[in-house]
Amino acid sequence: MPGKDLLVGIDIGGTTVKAALISLQGEILSQTAVRTEHMTTEEEIAKVAHAIGSVAGDDIDRVRDVGLAIPGVVSPDDRLIQAPNIALDLPGLMEELKNVFPGAGVWPINDANAAALGELWKGAGTGTSSLVFVTLGTGVGAGVVVDGKIVVGIDGMAGELGHFNVEPDGRQCNCGLKGCLEMYASSRGLVYLYKKHCEEQGVEPVPLEHEAHALPIFEAARKGDAPANAAVADMATYLARALAGVAVTVNPGAFVIGGGMSGAFDLFGPLLREEFVARVMPAGRGTPIVPATLGNDAGALGAAYQALTKGSVDLP
Ligand SMILES: [Zn+2]
Repeated sequence: MPGKDLLVGIDIGGTTVKAALISLQGEILSQTAVRTEHMTTEEEIAKVAHAIGSVAGDDIDRVRDVGLAIPGVVSPDDRLIQAPNIALDLPGLMEELKNVFPGAGVWPINDANAAALGELWKGAGTGTSSLVFVTLGTGVGAGVVVDGKIVVGIDGMAGELGHFNVEPDGRQCNCGLKGCLEMYASSRGLVYLYKKHCEEQGVEPVPLEHEAHALPIFEAARKGDAPANAAVADMATYLARALAGVAVTVNPGAFVIGGGMSGAFDLFGPLLREEFVARVMPAGRGTPIVPATLGNDAGALGAAYQALTKGSVDLP
């Protein structure tokens, strides 16, 4: 009987499922990815679970726990409450994974929460026990870690920082509210702010391929473009409002900024810090605001970390 000394971290995305075999110390030993857009029928689930199982090779019996990062709201009792961007039968996938990894526990977690734990375990948050991870992409997500544990909340809603109000009666958000952070600090939000400033200044915008194409705006800002710099400054200010609100709520040891837009952290990070300091109580002004360091590995690592901590409860 082999020892159970390995973890598997799975990161479910909109078009790809990534899986990593991870040691109990958090070292990634091997990785695989499978393209899929639907996991609802038995055949689809079996195909994905089998591909995930291949990441462990001959060591499949050594897998102790499996963590599953999902782009959706996961309730405290492991139900998928809301996942607008994927077609997933979560109970079906969990059951199939238990077949593929005999004797292993399978633990689902929201993907931003997983990334927060990943950064805490092996990334920008090592050395602190409480952090808030914010992911800036086409949307805005976040994970709140207090005393080493993710804060899920009664309904799984904790950390939905994308829907923190930063502008009274502001832009209409998909969630039904107005003025949510996501409407200003996501890539879509930045494009909106940029076009608004171009219009106000009577400047023709640089070509953008779609409504979430933020990269050219950051490039223009680096070259000194006035509307682009105004948009980046607005984005930083909106984000600072939300971080200041979170700081007086959980007083984290660090804010870790990830997601596609964090590639421009050198550009907006100093502004973000300045605006944050101007809005937070004096005691919180020293809170570090740092870029994430794990990139695409954060979700799988954090899912594995949560599986490690949850799974250990059941160990003899
Ligand atoms: Zn919203």
